[in-house]
Amino acid sequence: MNKLYLSKTKYCRAIQCPKMLWMDNFKPEEAEQTTPDEIFETGTKVGELAKRIFGKYTDIEYNNDKKQMIIQTEEALKNKPNIITEASFSYNHNFCSVDILKNDEEGVEIYEVKSSNHLKNIYIEDASYQYYVLTNLGFNVKKVCIVHLNGEYVRNGELELDKLFVIEDITDTASNKYEEIEKNIKDINTYMNKNNSNKEPDDKIGMQCFKPYVCQYWSHCTKHLPEKNIFKVKGLSKKKKLEFYNQGKYSFEDIQNEKINPKYKEQIDFEINNLKDKIEVEKIREYMNTLSIPIYFLDFETIKQAIPEYDGIYPYMQTPFQFSLHYIEDEKGEVKHKEYLAEPGVDSRRQIAERLVQDIPMNVCVVAYNMGFEKRVLRELAEQFPDLREHLLNIRDNMKDLMKPFMQRLYYTKAMEGFYTIKYVLPALFPDNPELDYHNLEDVHNGGEAPEIFLSLPSKSKEEQEKLKNALLEYCKLDTYGLVKIWEKLREIIGGQ
Ligand code: SF4
Repeated sequence: MNKLYLSKTKYCRAIQCPKMLWMDNFKPEEAEQTTPDEIFETGTKVGELAKRIFGKYTDIEYNNDKKQMIIQTEEALKNKPNIITEASFSYNHNFCSVDILKNDEEGVEIYEVKSSNHLKNIYIEDASYQYYVLTNLGFNVKKVCIVHLNGEYVRNGELELDKLFVIEDITDTASNKYEEIEKNIKDINTYMNKNNSNKEPDDKIGMQCFKPYVCQYWSHCTKHLPEKNIFKVKGLSKKKKLEFYNQGKYSFEDIQNEKINPKYKEQIDFEINNLKDKIEVEKIREYMNTLSIPIYFLDFETIKQAIPEYDGIYPYMQTPFQFSLHYIEDEKGEVKHKEYLAEPGVDSRRQIAERLVQDIPMNVCVVAYNMGFEKRVLRELAEQFPDLREHLLNIRDNMKDLMKPFMQRLYYTKAMEGFYTIKYVLPALFPDNPELDYHNLEDVHNGGEAPEIFLSLPSKSKEEQEKLKNALLEYCKLDTYGLVKIWEKLREIIGGQ
């Protein structure tokens, strides 16, 4: 049997699904949704910072030739007691680099660094694999720990590494997993030997396609399914969908007579029977009566910093860098617009908070889409700036959610495909309106691209920066302009306009 070269990543991918490793090796071009650079950078930044937790360290530089890393590690290990980062080892073709290794006369301690703010099972698998490799090489592994960010740490002054990171001791679990890991490695090798490059394995899709990570080969492994398939039924649990799948029921038609929540069934009925739009006028009227003029339509764009750059920020807190505001002050109905975009690389929270209280009067109706997000941003700004607190909380407390009628399916069309997010609702209500089509925007088309582009600004030329800033403004503006149009449409339906 040919021995497979495994690494921490390969091992973890293979235990999620061995076919994933096969695809990585022989059909990587079929992978979708690669990790955005921003997320990769986050991991790198957190890793670099964590290396300083125990003070001075010797870093083993990355080298494509892993043997060089192992040789350097052997040298570094002689200078005990010391801390080595990226210490690299290989046992029986199983390679690993330990993020942080504490090394002394009695043995070693393994510290695996993760940029998340909580412990996940897959991290334990990762660290246990390292325990397996080092133990087999004859090291006395005294401790195995996961180092991750502390979601409760709020920066106040200089970064305090001992508070920013949490160290969780998983030594007992890692050592108890020794035999399981040995078996897993054997099984992975058998699987890869059985399925050579010419023979794609026919593993069935299952829960492993979603946990712990959504697999990038999903489209490839489900290409036998019809376009409108059970996995596109919004709201239905993965477990239920897989149950149908395993019974050979793939299409909407296959499950139209099954017992499922009527709310999810609606999407299927609309699709199969090409039903006309559902509009519950009286209930929409009730909802619209909760809104009033003057009315302000608000939308934020935010970034999440894994490592808090400024005071008052905790890891992964959503901090705003932009807002768009459309508003109508009186019954004449003139729609006006204001907006704000921060300069990149500065703490703009104070400026945003000041602009919000300047641009939105107290006690007016404020509308957002999926308002929980906007409310949280306002609350956190209010906590940060006590002098603006009353006004910011007033804006928050007067907020209404324009998503509600769509979430409650008071208005539903086939084109919404079971969704109620604005990116589905807007084109469903205005199918032929190019000014409301996010596809017609330049550079920024969705909420995921906005922070990515904002964070990339400092690395761009002046000219490019201007172009991208403009794209950010246009994107956010469309979000609130879309709200105005939806509101107008609902008014029209209840005969208010
Ligand atoms: S989609 Fe599912 S079956 Fe296919 S490789 Fe990924 S996890 Fe495995």
